[in-house]
Amino acid sequence: MNEAAKGPGRPGRVKEITALTNPTIKAIRGLDRKRNREAENSFLAEGQKLVIDALDLGWTVKTLIYAKNARDHAGVADLAARVVARGGDVLEVSEKVLGAITRRDNPQMVVGVFAIKWVNPDKLPRDDDTVCVVLDRVRDPGNLGTIIRTADAAGAAGVILVGDCVDPFSIETVRATMGSLFAVPVARMSEEAFLSFRNDWPGKLIGTHLEGSVDYRTIGWAESEPLLLLMGNESQGLPDTLAKSCDILARIPQAGRADSLNLAVATGLMLFEARRHGLSIEDHP
Ligand code: SAM
Repeated sequence: MNEAAKGPGRPGRVKEITALTNPTIKAIRGLDRKRNREAENSFLAEGQKLVIDALDLGWTVKTLIYAKNARDHAGVADLAARVVARGGDVLEVSEKVLGAITRRDNPQMVVGVFAIKWVNPDKLPRDDDTVCVVLDRVRDPGNLGTIIRTADAAGAAGVILVGDCVDPFSIETVRATMGSLFAVPVARMSEEAFLSFRNDWPGKLIGTHLEGSVDYRTIGWAESEPLLLLMGNESQGLPDTLAKSCDILARIPQAGRADSLNLAVATGLMLFEARRHGLSIEDHP
């Protein structure tokens, strides 16, 4: 990168870039495609607080990008120094470049390029109070992001993506997680691998289905065993193969004309019921 400039008061390895044609900026803009994210093992997340929280949680910031006019904002220089100390790069860019990277008119002043991190499903906890969300072929980035955020808020131990799911590291999903992507372990596996994982799971697999025979409020949620909470695809619901593998098929009773609930809403209801005994307003004032 030949536009590198190191100014007074800035940590080392800060490069100033104003041109959209710069190869580094082009590569970062390319992270809007899943193929490029996978090839680079990288994804984007926006917002100064989010980047700080992610660093605190042990995520690797490969590149920190901030708008030139944010240079003197409280905390930006400290954050840049932290990133450099951990071996990352720092780019000081024009607002035009930042807007092009995030594809927004009013972009956040700080953006991070992070290393993608999938969790090995065998490393997920299996304690008596563990609840993990399992999503069958989730397709909508907003749904997935909202579910990861809700899983975080409900104290779920992780989210397992089964089959052909939307990418949790797309910018739309990352935005919808509101930072919870960094706090909730996310694993992925094929349906076949999940059926074998489910056989080794020490507790119950509770599926949700529009034809489920069990009212979700009547399940003995407080019984001590680790739970997998399985949710179906937005348009097709659960395939028979997965539905048959469940210990319980639960239904959320409905009134009115709607055929079903939105996937993220149904997941939220199930999760907060499953975690009811483990949550108290005293613990999270
Ligand atoms: N047309 C789909 C079907 O026939 O299953 C609707 C799927 S619904 C939008 C997406 C998922 O949310 C379902 O597979 C199920 O996991 C969950 N869900 C939505 N409403 C539900 C309800 N009332 N009871 C149980 N699960 C529900």
